[in-house]
Amino acid sequence: MTVSSFFTLHATDGTARTGVIETPRGAIRTPAFMPVGTAATVKAMMPESVAATGADILLGNTYHLMLRPTAERIARLGGLHRFMNWSKPILTDSGGFQVMSLSDLRKLTEKGVTFKSHIDGSKHELTPERSMEIQRLLGSDIVMCFDECPALPADRDRIAESMRLSMRWAERSKDAFGDRPGHMLFGIQQGGLEQDFREESAEALKAIGFDGYAVGGLAVGEGQAAMFQCLDFAPGQLPQDKPRYLMGVGKPDDIVGAVRRGIDMMDCVLPSRSGRTGQAWTRRGQVNIKNARHQDDPRPLDENCTCPACRNYSRAYLHHVFRAQEMISGMLLTWHNLHYYQELMQAMRDAISSGTFAAFEAQFHALRAEGDIEPV
Ligand SMILES: [Zn+2]
Repeated sequence: MTVSSFFTLHATDGTARTGVIETPRGAIRTPAFMPVGTAATVKAMMPESVAATGADILLGNTYHLMLRPTAERIARLGGLHRFMNWSKPILTDSGGFQVMSLSDLRKLTEKGVTFKSHIDGSKHELTPERSMEIQRLLGSDIVMCFDECPALPADRDRIAESMRLSMRWAERSKDAFGDRPGHMLFGIQQGGLEQDFREESAEALKAIGFDGYAVGGLAVGEGQAAMFQCLDFAPGQLPQDKPRYLMGVGKPDDIVGAVRRGIDMMDCVLPSRSGRTGQAWTRRGQVNIKNARHQDDPRPLDENCTCPACRNYSRAYLHHVFRAQEMISGMLLTWHNLHYYQELMQAMRDAISSGTFAAFEAQFHALRAEGDIEPV
């Protein structure tokens, strides 16, 4: 339908879109869910297992990797793809968000942020220029602009001030990124839940010009209703012919609602983190495998799921290994959760292609409303 240099939109259904982002390391089918590989690993998963779930791209965290093992060391060892044995595309965040949420003793100035490492207290600086350098050293395929965002709720003055600083940093990020064929730079829209600030931010980013655009500053405590209200207008303010990425989202129903509103890419630690705490996500909603109701249950977590956890193991086994604190517990549940998320994305891509997204969405909610299967 629409063709830009690397992003092709194949079909739309209402405001939902499906397409493909071409990169030298492979195609990313959209809408895409990106598993999070914080410290150069998706916790509890081998890279080939992550690929087997259907993931086309991973997310890496600049903040964590710059502190340990450092971007320079990863570059000396051949870059992040080789270091972690993942040959498909990698998107890295800019570090900005995690500096704000994880580090101690931050100092924010026009130039950037200085902070102390949460690991050893050592002092570091992140600026738009340094963030671009780190993401280049890592060899990231999709690089994110360095930005800043306030936790919500925040007053309008604070939101505007922060958004305008992020737009100045976006321009410095673009200058520092330079011309790197085969690599993409995404701008990040800010402006809290305020439509006028979101519009101002979108216009500033479009004037600079990016390969893709993220909706930033959401999923920071505002709740799903407020997030969806913002997504009713924010994606439409961004260019139609470039990928739109909603950062840090989310639960399955957040993802479905975001895709309906025109989002093409998402990432979240939820499926992998939940997998390590005994939480499974299925077509029927959330299942707590810790619950005693599973201890004699010979049935799979989800009889229709083709992941190894569901194909080869019972709920009773998954319950037992969680209780016994065996490592395979986190491995199996993470695999299942990532598999479920990727299956959900594929179902949405198919529904958009065939013009049946509304029916898909109704069925998605109906099955979740029924809840988990009855106990044995
Ligand atoms: Zn499964």
